[in-house]
Amino acid sequence: MTFQMKFCGAAGTVTGSCYWIRLDDCQFLVDCGMFQGAKTIKELNYNKFPFDPAQIDFMLLTHAHTDHAGLIPKLVKHGFSGPIYTTSGTRDLLTYMLPDSAHIQEMEVDRLNRRNRQRGRAEVEPIYTGEDADASLELIHPVEYESWLDLGVVKARFWNAGHILGAASIELEVQDGGEGARMLFSGDIGPDHKAFHPDPEAPSGVDYLITETTYGGRFRKDLPMEERQELLAKEINDAMHQGGALVIPAFAVERTQELLLDIAALLRSGAIPHVPVFLDSPLAIKVTSVFTAHAHSLEDMDGGNPFAHSSFHFTETTEESKAIARFSGNVIIIAASGMCDAGRIRHHLKNHLWRPQSTLLLVGYQAEGTLGRLLEQGAKRIKIQGEDVEVRARIRTIDTYSGHADHDGLMEWIDERLPVRRSIFLSHGSSASLQAMYEALVDKGIPAEQIIVPKLDDDFDLSDGKALPQLTRVIRRIDPECVEKPDWHNDLASLTLDLRKQLEGAHSDKQRAKLLARLRTLLDQFNES
Ligand SMILES: [Zn+2]
Repeated sequence: MTFQMKFCGAAGTVTGSCYWIRLDDCQFLVDCGMFQGAKTIKELNYNKFPFDPAQIDFMLLTHAHTDHAGLIPKLVKHGFSGPIYTTSGTRDLLTYMLPDSAHIQEMEVDRLNRRNRQRGRAEVEPIYTGEDADASLELIHPVEYESWLDLGVVKARFWNAGHILGAASIELEVQDGGEGARMLFSGDIGPDHKAFHPDPEAPSGVDYLITETTYGGRFRKDLPMEERQELLAKEINDAMHQGGALVIPAFAVERTQELLLDIAALLRSGAIPHVPVFLDSPLAIKVTSVFTAHAHSLEDMDGGNPFAHSSFHFTETTEESKAIARFSGNVIIIAASGMCDAGRIRHHLKNHLWRPQSTLLLVGYQAEGTLGRLLEQGAKRIKIQGEDVEVRARIRTIDTYSGHADHDGLMEWIDERLPVRRSIFLSHGSSASLQAMYEALVDKGIPAEQIIVPKLDDDFDLSDGKALPQLTRVIRRIDPECVEKPDWHNDLASLTLDLRKQLEGAHSDKQRAKLLARLRTLLDQFNES
């Protein structure tokens, strides 16, 4: 009797969410997300899956975020041809997000291969292409919230997770030939008072709960809409007083629409001046149209399109995007990506970070190893597309826009799911968040042996429902300790920046030659040892 679950991602880290479940005559995935962050972990996207995609019967998808859905086209490229079950909201978002992701993969590889050719290295293939993305979309079967989907030995039911449009927690009834088991995958859980969505819901009394811990150990006030808008108004007004631009990196999905909703309300009420607001992201513009199309199932939509305002300019073409740089005074620019690692935001950062009158407003979670995280931590110099940029702009952060429940919100959500009969698996969090959630659950009186914090690639045998899940012989792709640390690429980038700064700041060429000679000696000594 086989009943196994492998954590192929989002273990000890927040990205790459993917669970592989095997029964006697059936195997399936819950999510198939992309790894993001430092190079070591991103390389996993290029490596083989730890399973054979052609052998996977079907897939269940919690939501459209890249770290949950971003490797679906790779799955299809390598032979998966089964159905993908998800909500219609998620499907409509993926219609734009997967081709966009494919485009990013193709562009990144083009750039990399140009460098590889110059350095005489072998060329690499993109993780997947637009064709793979299109083929993936063909496999999607939309499902309704709260109604059972019969997949033979597995039954699945999707619950509103209150996280982004279409997001779900997934409940499963698994027939393993023995007693069977009920499982609940949290997906990502939204906060209470979230714009557009009701508070998250799910059943209780499952055997296995697999829950995210993104905000474990971190506390945030979930503000009602008016207070959230007041905070944003203050940031906008402060930025405008500096006389420059307000640049907001924003995820194309959900965060952008929340910002548009609030900025439109503030413009209408006169709480902020009528300045041009650019939404400079073709993907975010398309996603905004998905929100309008789903207006009937969303809250706060004021009967249709709250994203329309005469100050809003949606810039789709490259020419329109470039023209934004000509605005010198007060302007608000919203662009993707939310962690500053890709997309048009990079051009705006290059154009504004060095200007003391400009403001960068971070409104989302910045993962370790991303450019956004460096800026959040106060980096004085950064590298964008090979260019050094001095950071003189004001860097501001507001965390009221999270799509994630904070520590208390997660604990409350877990509490409503109790009792969990067998095990609680903690996933999708940094080591600090995982530890904080683990401790909080033990404090709550849940026996420590019932709580499992899997490492990347851990594989559990769940076939004996009475015993604790057993870790089976695990084949690891990378050392789990390296999953969330900044790697040597980050260290090298920071050393290079410091070295350049020292050299530029030196009084004379003689001093510069001395510094370089010392480094050369160190390097030679290192080679000899
Ligand atoms: Zn998410």
